[in-house]
Amino acid sequence: MAYIEDLLERMWNKTEVKDDCWIYTGSLSHNGYGNVSVHDKTERVHRVSWMIYKGPIPKGLIICHNCDNPACWNPEHLFSGTSLDNSTDSKNKGRTNGGRKPVLYLSQRQTRRKYLYDLQLRRVGKV
Ligand SMILES: [Zn+2]
Repeated sequence: MAYIEDLLERMWNKTEVKDDCWIYTGSLSHNGYGNVSVHDKTERVHRVSWMIYKGPIPKGLIICHNCDNPACWNPEHLFSGTSLDNSTDSKNKGRTNGGRKPVLYLSQRQTRRKYLYDLQLRRVGKV
């Protein structure tokens, strides 16, 4: 459990809140997605955010932004879709998703995720 808090701390240490977007300012991929190290593997920040706040990424789907800001990881700005929904992401699909199980989802109860989410909202000054 503590791992997720540490991870979120690392992510927040490299994030600027702009409008409603949580813009990752750490390492970015060539196409603008945030990179964060999770269990010694590089993961996309928005995908990590999805796994923490919403659960496993549905098989065969990718995580897209409705704010068109690839570095953003506000879970409210993310939705799952097919590669057709987001052609810029499709070339990454095989490498980053590939049907492999998410590393972060710990079948936490809803209250736990809500707690973490409220924590982040407080940190960004929304509550
Ligand atoms: Zn956003």
